[in-house]
Amino acid sequence: MSVFEYNNEDYWRAIILYGLNQATYKIALGQSLIRFSEQGKTTIRMNELAEDFFTMYLKRLINGKPQLATPNRQTAMERIINLYNNGLLNRTQAIERVEREAFNDVIDRFHIVDKSNIPIKFYEKTKQGIIISDNVFEIFSKNENVELVNELNSRWDLLESAFEIKRNNSQLVNDLRNFYLINGYERTDITKNRSVLNGYQNNVCFYCGEIMNEHDVHVDHVIPRQFINNDEIYNLVLSHSFCNLHKSDNLPGIHYLEKLIERNEYLIKSNHPISSKIKIQLGKSQLDRRKNILKIYTDAETALYPWGGIKGYNPATDPFYRTFIRNFIIN
Ligand SMILES: [Zn+2]
Repeated sequence: MSVFEYNNEDYWRAIILYGLNQATYKIALGQSLIRFSEQGKTTIRMNELAEDFFTMYLKRLINGKPQLATPNRQTAMERIINLYNNGLLNRTQAIERVEREAFNDVIDRFHIVDKSNIPIKFYEKTKQGIIISDNVFEIFSKNENVELVNELNSRWDLLESAFEIKRNNSQLVNDLRNFYLINGYERTDITKNRSVLNGYQNNVCFYCGEIMNEHDVHVDHVIPRQFINNDEIYNLVLSHSFCNLHKSDNLPGIHYLEKLIERNEYLIKSNHPISSKIKIQLGKSQLDRRKNILKIYTDAETALYPWGGIKGYNPATDPFYRTFIRNFIIN
């Protein structure tokens, strides 16, 4: 189906960066795998892994940030560390409990991304624990992959902040979702917009700036439909299925919104009928349109997880983006 060849690093990134993480366990397990592989250990007993998790979360939870997306609930790790900090469990008891309660899902689910198993394994599960596979060693023996370790840390920070924002705002998030739900509408056939969008994108993917194969062009909602609940053209772009899948129901970074705003202004300058449609949807003046779409984006930020975009994407070298800049300068 896809023209892409993935390597081990891509799969690692898919798990850590693109999975819809509802808790921080996968990030923690990723850190454990790196740590043990650096020590040259392949066979890890469950209680060794439990001890590693305990040490990691004990340090991590000093910041008091939530480790789970669902408001008013805690992960098993948070509960155990709490009991330990309050003197209700000693270290050995706490580690035993981590082994019994905290691993239920993460070891089985680590390799699942977007509901399916990735085709390689970073470890095998055994009765006694896990056996780390060469795939991990292969990735982390390369010096340049230091950045993968940093990515893991920033992803953990980012998840915690996202969980925290959503908790503090859970009523607000409900209200916002309701607002967009009530003002939204049934799904329409968005593929009919493909040709007009492509007139402007010229076969270049909105998210990665690479050329798209004509059989692999998806119409995508920049601000996810799951939140905005409409199919208005001002929010639609074309992308690879790969980029579309990685973005999932998350909210792309602000640089993509800026790009969308420029795209819309570009469409408005054309005399195509959609230019009047965008004016009706977002406002008559450029300033109004900018304000209105930023308002929607800010609302969506409150309710959705952020998505940083395609690794290595640089707007400055994106031919699609440069077309706009050129055009704006000429105009
Ligand atoms: Zn792409």
